[in-house]
Amino acid sequence: MTNSAIVGVMWGDEGKGRMVDLLTDNYDVVVRFQGGGNAGHTVVNERGTFALHLLPSGIFRDGVVNVLGNGVAVDPQSLVEEIDSLAKRGVAVTPENLKISDRASLVLPWHRDLDELEELRLGERRYGSTKQGIAPFYADKHQKKTVLAGELFYPDDLRRHLAELLEWKNLTLTEVYGSKPYSIEDLEAWLEGCCERMRPFVCDTAAFLERAQGEGKNILFEAQLGSLRDLDYGIYPFTTSSNTTAAYAPIGSGLPSARIDNVIGVMKAYSTCVGEGPFVCELRGEDAEPLREAGGEYGAKTGRPRRVGPVDLVAARYGVKVQAANEIALTKLDVLSFMERIPVCVAYLMGGRETEDFPFPLALDSALPVYEYVDGWMCDISGARTWEDLPCKAREYVSLLERRIGCPITYVSVGPERDSIIVRK
Ligand code: GDP
Repeated sequence: MTNSAIVGVMWGDEGKGRMVDLLTDNYDVVVRFQGGGNAGHTVVNERGTFALHLLPSGIFRDGVVNVLGNGVAVDPQSLVEEIDSLAKRGVAVTPENLKISDRASLVLPWHRDLDELEELRLGERRYGSTKQGIAPFYADKHQKKTVLAGELFYPDDLRRHLAELLEWKNLTLTEVYGSKPYSIEDLEAWLEGCCERMRPFVCDTAAFLERAQGEGKNILFEAQLGSLRDLDYGIYPFTTSSNTTAAYAPIGSGLPSARIDNVIGVMKAYSTCVGEGPFVCELRGEDAEPLREAGGEYGAKTGRPRRVGPVDLVAARYGVKVQAANEIALTKLDVLSFMERIPVCVAYLMGGRETEDFPFPLALDSALPVYEYVDGWMCDISGARTWEDLPCKAREYVSLLERRIGCPITYVSVGPERDSIIVRK
């Protein structure tokens, strides 16, 4: 039996979905343990290209059971839409291959409105939210002002509970933001529509996972976003509102007794960042275009152009540390094939001093990148399938990253397809 976690060591979008899709062959269960449908995993396999938002990336493998754990922000509306869009393309999502924790809290209809209203209020100072309601949802979860998926099995209690929440939340909507209140009828429509459709998937997933553990099944924990977006360890307040680190996987999955044997940190061969917040290595304006185009760096959820820059080893080393990653999957190495000389950020210059330590978030605003340059390989590497297939310069680049982050790079991905990967172990 093996428990592994696949986590992001940077700002997210590292290609975690692609790694889960590749590795699920070796696992029986894939569990999402945090976050909501506010990011997207892109998976390319023999069935086509899919952007997943809430569903675990194991959904494409026959026999794999996918779980949305109690730490996940479950939005019934977007979940049923995602299930329907997969069904249209021949991927069946059933209560056999998807199980939703009865202890998962639900994103309520007003959470999206509140997200949008607050970003509007902030204007220029906005956080760059994807407006899926995730921050207001987690705030309410911690205030104990939302409902658990399992309440769908207690309709009378649930209706009473929702009426109380409605009364409370309408105060914020109308008096703080001057917006429209919600009505009981709105909530009825929500309950009878998407919630009713979601109900058959809801069960005691903690019991299911315990059984799976007892039977020696292999469990894969799948994270959303990356170290630098972790609520506690990231670039607060430009973080997400949940813990994206592997240490949270046992709690958010519903298997607090789980020991994670293997933490696979996913890292891109360069840097990207969606949304606001400090990003020390950012290339701006026209300088960013060649890399953004080569990497197709547009958000899977929003289509927003991602901010791009050279690889940031100060951030990566920190990201590896907070994830306690013991191996790294390096993705998108092929994207750098057009570069004659590749900049590598090895330190930050702050207050006249160079440092390799990732600083307190506010200090990032004045940090400048210190670059070393290495020669590019300037040829197509997307067909490489072994370490020896890679040109010498590409191997040197990978080895440099490996030395500087202090963690073995065991996978090198050279394309989005399932088999475009070099395994180094
Ligand atoms: P995730 O949220 O961490 O799963 O990342 P995303 O799905 O948002 O972004 C990763 C993107 O890169 C997706 O479009 C993948 O298909 C693509 N991708 C993943 N690995 C590679 C790679 O090695 N090379 C190339 N060219 N694309 C890749």
